[in-house]
Amino acid sequence: MTTWVPADEQAGFGVANLPYGVFSPPGQPPRVGVRIGEYVLDLAATLDAELFARGSLNPFLAAGRARWTETRSRLRELLTDERHRPAVEPALYPVDRVTLHLPIEVADFVDFYASEEHASNLGRMFRPDSEPLLPNWKHLPVGYHGRAGTVVPSGTPIARPCGQRKPPDADVPTFGPSVRLDIEAEVGFVVGTPSTLGEPVATKDFAEHVFGVCLVNDWSARDIQAWEYVPLGPFLGKSFATSISPWVVPLDALAEARVPTPRQQPAPLDYLTEPEPWGLDLRLAVELNGEVIARPPYAGMYWSPAQMLAHMTVNGASVRTGDLYASGTVSGQAADQRGSLIELTWNGREPVRLSSGEERTFLADGDTVSISATAPGEGGSRLSFGQVTGRITPANCDPAASG
Ligand code: MN
Repeated sequence: MTTWVPADEQAGFGVANLPYGVFSPPGQPPRVGVRIGEYVLDLAATLDAELFARGSLNPFLAAGRARWTETRSRLRELLTDERHRPAVEPALYPVDRVTLHLPIEVADFVDFYASEEHASNLGRMFRPDSEPLLPNWKHLPVGYHGRAGTVVPSGTPIARPCGQRKPPDADVPTFGPSVRLDIEAEVGFVVGTPSTLGEPVATKDFAEHVFGVCLVNDWSARDIQAWEYVPLGPFLGKSFATSISPWVVPLDALAEARVPTPRQQPAPLDYLTEPEPWGLDLRLAVELNGEVIARPPYAGMYWSPAQMLAHMTVNGASVRTGDLYASGTVSGQAADQRGSLIELTWNGREPVRLSSGEERTFLADGDTVSISATAPGEGGSRLSFGQVTGRITPANCDPAASG
């Protein structure tokens, strides 16, 4: 299908994609839009002001799968049939002239740990004398509940966090700026249709509840994390900020991207089995100061997002519209496919060398990290997920000085 909008299909934002976001034209309030080529289409002006003249996607997410699919097919009709052009064209805004916002009001945030390579790499680094994976890892998708209120839109400056950190050779912790600030390149899943308290969501019902996919950078202060995480898991080392991309790619755009997940051995328990596994062939790229330092492949992830959702609700916990859950760091088998600096530099021992000659173990103030991704789309096209980006600003560890 070809759109009448000047849109290069190979640029990743043709009618095969149509990701949703929230934007403000200059001087106007936010509303829902879809990206088409280098433009954003105002859905409040084009389709339904009640549903789309809103500051988040949540009302549309709550409308459910039938409405999502119907809206997508209407948009494809409007954007491909030249007869609609005169009515629709005035609602297009050049994407570089609008402000992009957080696309969803995040209800709850959960982060998983679904890459076998990532979990094994960290195991090898921190428990060199034992098995890389802990005994539970191949039986359930390990995860933790994160902080929804500090999920921020792409482009938000990330202040270096302060906290307690205790080097291995020190007797007591000290307070100060994190000196091991890291990234985690992840894929996020946005829940639309809520589930009922007490009723687990089966793996086969994944697409009834999950609307779409975005990119996530789970900023991580490794020194704060290492000291605080025992025995209850991640806390302040991660809760200071989590960045997400402005565009949510609907599952309806990802039919061509579906691939099997890796063979699971031992076979998971019944509630984690899937009729057709939801592996996804997403190819991520991590840029540090404009230079690609890693290309993590999502397709190799051990646990699928349908398994994560089934596990998250198997105890009867319900999900809500706007819930976001993320895959955990995406890392592949090759050294340049690792989605965090702690892995890329092997715990800081092998610095990443940039073409400027500079080296990095962890992030320096002023560094910019951008994560992008593409996936196969219909008719041999490639879909773009856009990017999630953030720049590190200096720590302010003295609350009195912040005025
Ligand atoms: Mn993470």
